[in-house]
Amino acid sequence: MRTMQETDVLKSPEEFYDAYIFDMDGTIYLGEGLLPGAARMINELRRREIPVRYLSNNPTKDPEMYVKKLQKLGLPTPIEDISNTVVTTTNWLLQHYPDAVLFPISEEPLKRALRNAGFVLSEDPEEIDIVIASYDRTFEYKKLQIAFDAIWYYKRAFMIQTNPDRFCPFPGGRGEPDCACIVAAIEACTRVKSQANLGKPDPIMLETIMQSLPSARVEHSIMVGDRLQTDMQMAIDANMVSGLVLTGEATIPDVLKRTEEQRPSFVMDRVDRLIPQWAWDELGWTVDNDA
Ligand SMILES: [Mg+2]
Repeated sequence: MRTMQETDVLKSPEEFYDAYIFDMDGTIYLGEGLLPGAARMINELRRREIPVRYLSNNPTKDPEMYVKKLQKLGLPTPIEDISNTVVTTTNWLLQHYPDAVLFPISEEPLKRALRNAGFVLSEDPEEIDIVIASYDRTFEYKKLQIAFDAIWYYKRAFMIQTNPDRFCPFPGGRGEPDCACIVAAIEACTRVKSQANLGKPDPIMLETIMQSLPSARVEHSIMVGDRLQTDMQMAIDANMVSGLVLTGEATIPDVLKRTEEQRPSFVMDRVDRLIPQWAWDELGWTVDNDA
């Protein structure tokens, strides 16, 4: 049973927004299963032709991989709707440094996306403009040396990073070292700090995505996720509407620990509460008839 104070925290939207940006794990699906109401909620947004984007901090996956996963779960998704850090990093570089020579310390998906966007990739520290640190399971000393030479010896390159995560958690409690340790290695030898982070919780991620949605007003678009420190903080910092779902990490007591200004705009027990109650009534939805 939830207490009075706890149920008071629950609040869902009464209108539709210009665009919906979703975290995936804990928000749309959990492991290999869709969360209750996720499919009918997405289908309703599609029927209304409202733009949808899915976010992920993981730069080791091609957007195609998320399309396949969502398809398998019963959510057909156009590739343009996926915005992982491969996409946000590529788009940010196109916006700000379209002519830069890049040295991505990364796996193939990011390199492929950068090449397809027309960037020149190089391992020659004399010509590298930007070193991109990322979640790279093929990291080795040679890559560190190239980054060191480009940044410290030739003093021409600066560093950005795809995401800030220390490790990528796996089911069962294990994990893999993520982007933060590559950044730390380069910072340790060069004493030069990373200048941009293209993943959650940096609002640059949302700003980059909103630039691909020119008809959506930022302050009338909503970021939906299950984590307060990343998904919700990023939305608050980007001046977007924020919707927390309680189907993943965060709980009502976690929300209550935050000051009023730092709380999400909405807190929902299930993700289809994003559809306003009046639309539930029109559609004949109940919590028990979620098809
Ligand atoms: Mg999540």
